[in-house]
Amino acid sequence: MKITSMIGLTLFLLISGCTQSALQDPYVVVLGIAQDAGVPQAGCMKECCIGRWNNPSNQLMVTSLGIVDPNSKETWMIEATPDFPNQLKMLTDNNQDKLEGIFLTHAHIGHYTGLIHLGREAMGTQKVNVYAMPKMAKFLRSNGPWSQLVDLENIRINKLKNEKTLELNDRISITPFIVPHRDEFSETVGYKIEGPSKSLIFIPDIDKWEKWEEDIEKVASENEYTLIDGSFFENGEIPGRDMSEIPHPFIVESMEVLRDVKDKSGIHFIHFNHTNPVLNQDSSPRKDVLNAGFNIAGSGQKMSI
Ligand SMILES: [Zn+2]
Ligand SMILES: [Zn+2]
Ligand SMILES: [Zn+2]
Repeated sequence: MKITSMIGLTLFLLISGCTQSALQDPYVVVLGIAQDAGVPQAGCMKECCIGRWNNPSNQLMVTSLGIVDPNSKETWMIEATPDFPNQLKMLTDNNQDKLEGIFLTHAHIGHYTGLIHLGREAMGTQKVNVYAMPKMAKFLRSNGPWSQLVDLENIRINKLKNEKTLELNDRISITPFIVPHRDEFSETVGYKIEGPSKSLIFIPDIDKWEKWEEDIEKVASENEYTLIDGSFFENGEIPGRDMSEIPHPFIVESMEVLRDVKDKSGIHFIHFNHTNPVLNQDSSPRKDVLNAGFNIAGSGQKMSI
């Protein structure tokens, strides 16, 4: 081969290599889909969980999302759940990618207690960026064992502001927004994640839709992906308990509210209680959800943004 054509070939390979890497869209990956307590749930020997205890492939991690930029190998986690060790491994590709930060929604057990793995008894990290709203930040600073993570600088708390967008890098941004939820210890937020071409809404916990000042139908129509609270399928799911006061929109209610959204394929239910029949692959509630055009989030699912 002539030297000039060799240079040409090298240039071609370099350029096509660059183009290829530039084409790697950032994405959001689902790291877990269960409600705070996971599936199976502690103490449950009923039909919903009995077959899951001895079968790890039937066990579901708690709801969490990862954001990944494959070009820069940066990652961010939303929520620090009790399943943090496995979710960190999953998100960072066996620790090859860097965890740039953790975004928290609120102070219920499934959403922040995984932070313990950053502390002295575990990873002993240095200044991992944790992003939280003001009350959530105060809660962490003023209660052990979280306060120790702050004092020892295992974590560095960055305060978020309602509806204030934060640029994660030059391709990805994130915006927290307040939602109504039983806020004993902190406020509760959802997140909007925007990439170069698509946006994703994440609302793992919310009271009934009518308590929210935003119109979920409009929100779901304006964003390519909407991942929403699917804790319970319908009233009556927990025997002997009137669930009308349980502050979550039932999936059947959400399907009704969202029935006129043209493309429902981006609407994914997530944050499932162990009793939720949609977790059963062959159940008719699951088929009803899918037949109506909606989706059910799955662990490991990637959504390019
Ligand atoms: Zn929750
Ligand atoms: Zn169960
Ligand atoms: Zn909650």
